[in-house]
Amino acid sequence: MRKLTFSIGGVHPDDAKLSKDCTIEALPLPQTVYVSVAQHLGAPAVPTVAVGDKVKVGQVIAEPGGFISAFVHSPVSGTVKSIAPRADLAGKPVAHIEIAVEGDEWAEGIDLSDTLVTEIPTDKAATLEKIKQCGIVGLGGATFPTHVKLNPAPGSKAECLIINGAECEPYLTSDYRIMLERTKEIIVGAAIMQQVLGGCRCVIGIEENKPEAIKAMREALAQLPYDNIKVQPLKKRYPQGGEKQLIDAVMKRQVGSGGLPISVGAVVQNAATSLAVYEAVQKNKPLITNVLTVTGDCLPVEKQHNYLFRIGVPLSFIAEYAGGVPEGAAKIISGGPMMGRAISNMEATTVKGSSSILYLSEAATKRGPESNCIRCGRCADACPMGLEPFLLRRLTLAGDLEGLEANAMQDCIECGCCLYSCPAGIPLLDLLRQSKNQVLGAIRARAAAAKAAAEAAKKE
Ligand code: SF4
Ligand code: SF4
Repeated sequence: MRKLTFSIGGVHPDDAKLSKDCTIEALPLPQTVYVSVAQHLGAPAVPTVAVGDKVKVGQVIAEPGGFISAFVHSPVSGTVKSIAPRADLAGKPVAHIEIAVEGDEWAEGIDLSDTLVTEIPTDKAATLEKIKQCGIVGLGGATFPTHVKLNPAPGSKAECLIINGAECEPYLTSDYRIMLERTKEIIVGAAIMQQVLGGCRCVIGIEENKPEAIKAMREALAQLPYDNIKVQPLKKRYPQGGEKQLIDAVMKRQVGSGGLPISVGAVVQNAATSLAVYEAVQKNKPLITNVLTVTGDCLPVEKQHNYLFRIGVPLSFIAEYAGGVPEGAAKIISGGPMMGRAISNMEATTVKGSSSILYLSEAATKRGPESNCIRCGRCADACPMGLEPFLLRRLTLAGDLEGLEANAMQDCIECGCCLYSCPAGIPLLDLLRQSKNQVLGAIRARAAAAKAAAEAAKKE
């Protein structure tokens, strides 16, 4: 079958899927977990428990703090010890609910059996509510609340649901393992979302470097009773799993600047999100677990792992369980080497979207000394969003916010292709991330001011 890909830019880093053959293992429970109330895009959740409360696994401990927000559930059974700020991965203080673990008692009504439930519920509103109540968020990186994404505004229609099984970031293998080990559940999850979206077609996109996952998905599909779902191999090219790049590859449609996928009839959900939707709708299981890869070029094969973890477990606990920080690790990253962020605080805890602890050696991180831009244009050739990173850098250094916005800084997907391609070793990504945040801040402030002015005018 033809392999699809996106139209512009992209790079070809070594995929280094060193942990691809490591089956998913369940991590043991630590003595204490710290559950963040801000582990999704949007407003932080608001705690619904108090210090001293007894909680069970899967019980709600925080409720949505706004329209774009999500429920948070206890990942363990035990006693709430504190609700206090604690440093997250970036070192920012965020409220965490500390729970001392006592046994492993689950809330009633959660089906923990392995029985596959294939019948798709037909009540769309009830399904969306279940997805909301179970705190499902996108697990491909953005952690956008899934019930909101699956409920497009009136006038918008989904024509294609794309299940993202690309996992194009080097090293990461958690999606690959769930595609092999939870294949049918992912497909049922896709069928549920397809039904909620009005029966649009569904395409499961998987990069060609995962032939076993493509085969497993096709075989499982043939055994399940769903129509209009197909598996589509994609070319191995980074960032094939970017939302806009996937839509371009599969539908040959481009999402415009500032636009949402639904503007071209697309809804994209990650394979892990599809599994979480299955567990929520068919098993009443809230999102309290995910799979995380422990990997890196300085880890021997026997120390590579894919762990099923519960949210709120400290990274230091996982690292220790996996054998400690390996010798020769020059950098520890959460996420992949292209888009991930350096972990400066190993006491930070796992959140719904945690995907890896990646140990990289000096050799794997070294980019050579930084020199002046030689205007070679390689960063622009590599940019999958059609931006000119060298120009954006110049505008950033000049503090020209207007120029940055005019040159679509806000469209940057932080993929790191420009940094990867730059022969001058210029740290473009960190710089452009900061500029993007500033530009987005200015755009939001303008929108808020316009809304306030319109409301004031209405009152007059
Ligand atoms: S990080 Fe931004 S500017 Fe750089 S290649 Fe990716 S989208 Fe383009
Ligand atoms: S790739 Fe690096 S050296 Fe070449 S134009 Fe871009 S910023 Fe300059």
